[in-house]
This record gives sequence, C-alpha cells and structure tokens, in this order.
Amino acid sequence: MTKEFDYIVIGGGSGGIASANRAAEYGANVAVIEENQIGGTCVNRGCVPKKVAWYASKVSDAIHRYGPGYGFEADNVTFDYSEFKRAQDGYVARSRQGYTNRFNSNGITLIEGHAEFVDANTLQVDEEQYTAKHILIATGGRPRNVEVPGGELLDNSDDFFNWETLPESVVVVGAGYIAVELAQVLHGLGVDTSLAVRHDRPLRKFDETIIKEWLELNEANGPKLLYQTDFDQYEEIEGQIACYQDGREIIRADRVIQAIGRQPNTEHLGLENTKIELDDKGHVVVNDNHETAEAGIYAIGDVIDRIDLTPVAIRAGRQLSEYLFNQAASAEIDYTNVPTVVFSHPAIGTIGLTEAQAREEYAEDEIKIYNNRFYSMYASAAWHREPCHFKLVCVGDEERVIGLHAIGEGVDEMIQGFGVAMKMGATKKDFDSVIAIHPTGAEEFVTMR
Ligand code: FAD
Ligand code: NDP
Repeated sequence: MTKEFDYIVIGGGSGGIASANRAAEYGANVAVIEENQIGGTCVNRGCVPKKVAWYASKVSDAIHRYGPGYGFEADNVTFDYSEFKRAQDGYVARSRQGYTNRFNSNGITLIEGHAEFVDANTLQVDEEQYTAKHILIATGGRPRNVEVPGGELLDNSDDFFNWETLPESVVVVGAGYIAVELAQVLHGLGVDTSLAVRHDRPLRKFDETIIKEWLELNEANGPKLLYQTDFDQYEEIEGQIACYQDGREIIRADRVIQAIGRQPNTEHLGLENTKIELDDKGHVVVNDNHETAEAGIYAIGDVIDRIDLTPVAIRAGRQLSEYLFNQAASAEIDYTNVPTVVFSHPAIGTIGLTEAQAREEYAEDEIKIYNNRFYSMYASAAWHREPCHFKLVCVGDEERVIGLHAIGEGVDEMIQGFGVAMKMGATKKDFDSVIAIHPTGAEEFVTMR
C-alpha cells in the first residue's frame, strides 16, 4: 500500500531539513527520506567538521606563531589528533541529534533509505512506496573525481573527515574553497602540505587583489604551492603516493586529497520515470520558482545549478515551504550579493562583484575602486607584519557599493553586517557616515579614502 504525505523531501541535508521543518510548522504532514546521516554534507562532512578543524588550526597558530610575541612559551605544547577528533566528532554528533529532535517535535517522519521515482507522483524506498502532492529533490552533491591511472589511491574531503591519524605529508589537488581550506588546516596542524593548482593561483573566481595578498601570506606561512600542475597519474611507492605529470614524478606524499569540485546527486533517482530535465553537469533544471519540468516536483540546494552554500539551500528550502504552505507569492529567492567566506588563514570574505566582473558589466568611468592595506594589530603586536587588504567596488556618481572583498584577521565575522548594507543599496557615503569602532579591523571599511 502506498503511504501518503502532503510533502516529501528527498535528502535530509541543509536545504531539505529547513524546508521540511518550515512546512511542518504550517501543519503539513511531512516525510524526509535520507539514505545516509541526517544533516547531510554540511553537518557531517562539510561546514561543521571543517570549521572545527579551522579553529584547531587557529589555536595552533595562536600558540606557535603569535604566542611567543605575547610572552607565552610554546616549546612544550603538543597536539593530540585523537583528542581533537573526539571534540570534532562529538560536536557533529550533537548537531545531528539536534536535527532529529526537531523532526520529532515537528512531527516529521524520517524514512531511512534510498529514494527513487517510480513515476512522477510515487517514490520507492526499499519495499515501500510513498506519494505526496509536493515532492522536493534536495539530494545535494558529492566530491567529483577525475578518471586517471591510480586515481583510486586518492582521498576526497569525505575521506579526510574520517582520518584516524594525521599523516606526515599531504598533497591537496584543486583550487577552490575545499582545496584551500583543507590545505591550510593541514599545514596549520603541522602536516607537510602542498597544494597543487592547474593555473597561476587558486580561487581564481575571487577578486584578484585579495588573492594576490593570500598568495603572499601563504608564501610566508602556508602550504607549498605547486603552480601549473595537473597530475595525470598516481602510483603507490613504498607506502606513499607518487604524483606524475607527463611521465615525470612531481611530488610524493603519504596522502593525496583531490578537491576539484563537486557533482550533483541525480543518478539512481529514477528521474527517467519523470519529465525532469538535467543540465550537462547533471544538475536538476529548475525555473526561478524552483519548479522542475514535472508539476509538483521542486529542487533546491547543491542539486541545482545556483550557489552551493548551506545558507542558500536553507533560504531556498524555507521559501519553497512558504510558497507551498503559507501562500507566499512565489518560491523565488535573491541569489545576488550572497556573502561568503573562505576559511583560509587568514579568512577571505566577499560579497557581490569582483573588480573584474564590475569592469565587464559597467563602463570604465562608472567604476571607482577603494583599497585599504594595513597591518593587523593582532599580528603587529606580536612582532609579525601581516597585511590585511580591504576593497570596495563602487558604481555610478552615487558610488553604490557593488563589491566588498577582504582578507585578514577577523573578516569571517566582519562581513555579514556589510551584506545587509549592500542589500539595502548602501553607497560609499553611507559607509563613511558611520563612526568607526576603534581599535578594530572593521573600522577600515568605513574610513576608506
Ligand atoms: P546536502 O547537505 O548534500 O544534503 C543532501 C542529502 O541528500 C544527503 O544527506 C544525502 O545523503 C541525501 N540523498 C542524496 N540522494 C538521496 C536519495 N536518492 N535518497 C535519499 N537521500 C538522498 N557551505 C557553507 O555555506 N559554508 C561552509 O563553510 C561550507 N563548507 C563546506 C566544506 C566542505 C568540505 C563541503 C563538501 C561543503 C561545504 N559547504 C559549505 C557547502 C555545503 O555543505 C552545501 O552547500 C550544503 O550542504 C548543500 O545542502 P543540500 O541540502 O543541497 O545538500
Ligand atoms: P570549487 O568549485 O570551489 O573549486 C573547484 C576548483 O578546482 C575549480 O574552480 C578548478 O579551479 C579546480 N579544478 C577543477 N577541475 C580540476 C582538475 N581536473 N584538476 C585540478 N583542479 C581542478 O569546488 P570545491 O569542491 O572546492 O567546493 C564546492 C563548493 O562547495 C564551493 O564552490 C562552495 O560553493 C562550497 N564550499 C563552501 C565553503 C565555504 O563557504 N567556506 C567551503 C567549501 C565548499 P581552476 O580552474 O583554477 O583549476
């Protein structure tokens, strides 16, 4: 017999959970189908364990790099990876439990297993069939692999979070958020780390000025960078992995992590039994209202081709439930000016257009750029000269701020509020009208000339 719900969500990750809870709060009878752990990528093998690792790496930096300058003796401090793992796994488990509790209090049915469409209205999980008026595909994504000889020797970010011990040496292959974050965390925890990028720098989609600063900072304290490197073969030699390009061994390490992007989870979903379309990268195609080509079936989060960030998936999931169960006019969300932070050391924060994007979109004489490079007090007081770089990209006579980019101590906690200002259409004059908080790094954003 087919069980019926008002709303079925496939995927208990960031977007699916948010949408299910919001729908249930409006009284809908909701089921979530999850084949792995509740919480999805972010909680179990993404943002959350990554951020705990980032904090650990920051603690190490504070002890070893800054401690002595502030009068602390760091010589006998040791790092116990298994103790760190206990803290990391414990935090993840508590987060996961929080989601289960919320499902219980909202009366959401959790169905454990793999969901597949039998037809446009029916889902199969093991031996059971389920149907609902509205179905959400929120199946997220997974690490992408390239097929090269020896590729099976490589780890990906999922594997990294399961390591029981820290190796002595690691090569990270890739040039995006994950490659940079993991490489810097590993370096910070004392692992001999190299980051191999195909071009002349990582994070090529970010503002060039900021990445130039990152490169200098990384040179002084970070993983070794291998430029123009594109390994085409790997081989296990004496317990290590040798990385080759054009038949030449480039580097050898205990472990190699591949972090070259992610691919949407749309295989084995039975989509061939529906009218749902996929793009050439396998994302579910949706319109601005998050509707697929099949009436009553929607998709949000990493499985669609928008912005792969947890708060984006959450916003889209909630808005969809507002639309389906609370008479909101649409399920559209605004994908512009989404603030984002790369948890590098130091962090990189960015909102809106880079200088290069602004120059493509607007006439040359419409753009005005403000830069401020200064030395962080935290570092300077400990006898380091570690630059921070803040940049504003403004447009038009009124100098509306359309891009805000920063690297430096504390920017990860600094830019959220500027996101509000930019959403409200703030101009440079608005920024200047605010009296600074002193002494902070953030004050440099409101005193730029
Ligand atoms: P997911 O969270 O991936 O959830 C999808 C769920 O669907 C999974 O649990 C999966 O098991 C389940 N599923 C898939 N197919 C089926 C099926 N057929 N049947 C049943 N269940 C199924 N974002 C940030 O904003 N900040 C960060 O700091 C950050 N750090 C990250 C670090 C790493 C290492 C990674 C990998 C990602 C990070 N992200 C970060 C991105 C963020 O994790 C994703 O954008 C977010 O998790 C997407 O949410 P989602 O709901 O679309 O999918
Ligand atoms: P990204 O899309 O950020 O970066 C992947 C990069 O890898 C590409 O831009 C490309 O850079 C490089 N690459 C692609 N193919 C190859 C290849 N064959 N060999 C070597 N390098 C290659 O992907 P990630 O996997 O790092 O992260 C996925 C998404 O998850 C991010 O885009 C982000 O949205 C989200 N995320 C967010 C985080 C945060 O908010 N802090 C943290 C982690 C992930 P190039 O062309 O320069 O070689």
